[in-house]
Amino acid sequence: MSIPAPHADDAAPAGPTDAPVPGYLSALNPAQRLAVEALDGPLLVLAGAGTGKTRVLTARIAHILFSGRAWPSQVLAVTFTNKASRQMRERVTALIGPSAEGLWLGTFHALAARILRRHAERIGLKPNFTILDADDQLRLVKQLLEGARFDDKKWPPRAILGAIERWKDRGLTPEKVSGTEAKDGDGADLLGLYRAYQDRLLTLNAADFGDLLLHGLTLFTRHEDVLAEYHRRFRYILVDEYQDSNVAQYLWLRLLAQAHRNLCCVGDDDQSIYGWRGAEVGNILRFEKDFPGAKIVRLEENYRSTRHILGAASGLIAHNCGRLGKTLFTSVEGGEKVQVRGLWDGEEEARWIGEEIEALQRKGHALSEVAVLVRAGFQTREFEERFMTIGLPYRVIGGPRFYERQEIRDAMAYLRLVAQPDDDLAFERIVNVPRRGIGAATVQTLHRLGRDARISMVEAASRLVATDEIKGPARASLKRLLADFDRWRGQLAQSHHAELARIVLDESGYTAMWQNDRSPEAPGRLENLKELVAAIAEFDGLTAFLEHVSLVMEAVEGAGGDMVNVMTLHSAKGLEFDTVFLPGWEEGLFPHPRALEEKGEGGLEEERRLAHVGLTRARERLFVSFAANRRIHNLWQSSLPSRFVGELPAENIDLVSRPGLFGAGSRANAWDGRARPGQSTYGGAASPRDRMIDGRAREVRSPRPASAFRVGDRVFHVKFGYGRIVAVDADRLDIDFEKAGGKTVIDSFVTPA
Ligand code: ATP
Ligand code: MG
Repeated sequence: MSIPAPHADDAAPAGPTDAPVPGYLSALNPAQRLAVEALDGPLLVLAGAGTGKTRVLTARIAHILFSGRAWPSQVLAVTFTNKASRQMRERVTALIGPSAEGLWLGTFHALAARILRRHAERIGLKPNFTILDADDQLRLVKQLLEGARFDDKKWPPRAILGAIERWKDRGLTPEKVSGTEAKDGDGADLLGLYRAYQDRLLTLNAADFGDLLLHGLTLFTRHEDVLAEYHRRFRYILVDEYQDSNVAQYLWLRLLAQAHRNLCCVGDDDQSIYGWRGAEVGNILRFEKDFPGAKIVRLEENYRSTRHILGAASGLIAHNCGRLGKTLFTSVEGGEKVQVRGLWDGEEEARWIGEEIEALQRKGHALSEVAVLVRAGFQTREFEERFMTIGLPYRVIGGPRFYERQEIRDAMAYLRLVAQPDDDLAFERIVNVPRRGIGAATVQTLHRLGRDARISMVEAASRLVATDEIKGPARASLKRLLADFDRWRGQLAQSHHAELARIVLDESGYTAMWQNDRSPEAPGRLENLKELVAAIAEFDGLTAFLEHVSLVMEAVEGAGGDMVNVMTLHSAKGLEFDTVFLPGWEEGLFPHPRALEEKGEGGLEEERRLAHVGLTRARERLFVSFAANRRIHNLWQSSLPSRFVGELPAENIDLVSRPGLFGAGSRANAWDGRARPGQSTYGGAASPRDRMIDGRAREVRSPRPASAFRVGDRVFHVKFGYGRIVAVDADRLDIDFEKAGGKTVIDSFVTPA
């Protein structure tokens, strides 16, 4: 099968071809086939996990093309991730051949960017505009804040950026933000800053992610001719994972679909898991209202999972109140019950999962068909370590590996520098993180001296802070930082290394930096830092730990190959695996306490949907586990199984647990509460005395070389000009400069004059 080309984008294609009924239709059940063949008018496929929604979308694209209703370039298909787009393109290509290349297929952001580039001038950008990443955005906000008066305790740059992004999620340009939202309770002019931010972006010929859709909306509403062009072009629009679209995306779609009204959205209200990022499950609920006469198709047969897996998932989600409700069945025969396992601690859990996976591997199962899905990013660490130890190849999907995450690298840089002051790379990484007024010029100066004198940057810094080479505030900060490091090194001998790590992160201001950060990622980063401290406690000393990590980092993943998939539940949306492990189903971990605190019952329901997403990823084998003891934040805690464990229907699960972990006869909620012997407090190590701060700074500097200059020499300094040396102390010179007055400088920064 292939689609004829070339053609004009907005011309109607030739009409149906005479080919026999294609295989993609016969491979569908009647409800699916209805959804694929109902090509005219709006259509919502509202159906549970694994019922073939994504398959329907793929088949529908093939059908549109194959039946001659549209050219590939007249079809717009939106997926949730780039990976999903690639998969869909591959499948459509397999069905209809290489002409699938012409499809407009991608994420909301990718498609919106593509459209925006073609009409950038209309909204004041050039076609080659830059798309800013999160770091750039933050830098921009910081620059804007320099002039503005903002309480940076209450409104750190990330919080401001967060507020701007939420407005963009809702499709609100600065003009559309209501007066009540414009200022916060204390009168801080957030809207003014939003306006300034947008102006600045235009000047820089740049857009952020939110702008791609926001400008798209402006483009379509202000320029009828542009909208008309896309109305002519896009005869068919299809959207996957519709339950997680936000308002801006919804409005963008609605504008595009106005003309032909051939909009097909598929989604599942029970899988809406991005409420915290502005997704509106309400978009699904109002579909019928916005598109009168819309067909609604429900799919009820789940093709993915065995009976017990589906039973467990359906039983769990039935505990949610705010749902449309649906029935699901599966004809997949056989299958074990869901194994629910209680283990002693996190380490035993990781060991057990590793063993189970090895056993599957021995039986010939592919590792790529196995997934370990965790609630929070920090939880991957324990599995990564275990898999590395036993040599099980794995990949982390949707984010970097634990030790490659930004906050972990920063924290590691601090620790490396405590252990080894000559580590220039570590020093450079953290010298101004958190910001302490040590700018690029200072770092350049340190570099220069380091290079010239063949000394480390720390050593260069300790020489320079005694001079005037570095300006006032930077000098004071650098001095303080050096003193901090001296003190921490002094404590290394007396404190427990994990405790010292915590002290370093706290006293350096690094922890506070993330605590004051109100971006959605910040809490996860703090969790990662706590997990790092817990990891350090597992080693005999700081050096042993650092050694371990450098070896771990060395073991980079081989390209491609058969690997276990490790990821968060959020990243697992839409995917499926033969075997799925869901570890850490404990109160305090899952449901995530933050979701409960911030959003109460609504938060709990979103957590339950997330659990439901996890359960429904499995085809054949599903393991849920929880540990009785967990080292959280370097504290051993005895934990209770998650309430979600208790919500899994008894008939679908096999509860396996160590003897003694449960009270007699109880199902899941009665731990005997014992803490691990001797480890009930600080990872079995640091005493309160150890945790006291040792105020003494140790003198660890190496002797300074003698200077070649003499008192009375006339010299030249790039910054201070000409002057005469009045005193020499090793490499440090006191100079009376002709213009700049008396200064102390390092000898390698002056030349004889
Ligand atoms: P999710 O809600 O998790 O995104 P989904 O509804 O998109 O799930 P799909 O991923 O499209 O479901 O389908 C789930 C699995 O069932 C896939 O492996 C798919 O190939 C298979 N499947 C779907 N429909 C059929 C069918 N009619 N016959 C056989 N297999 C099917
Ligand atoms: Mg899907």
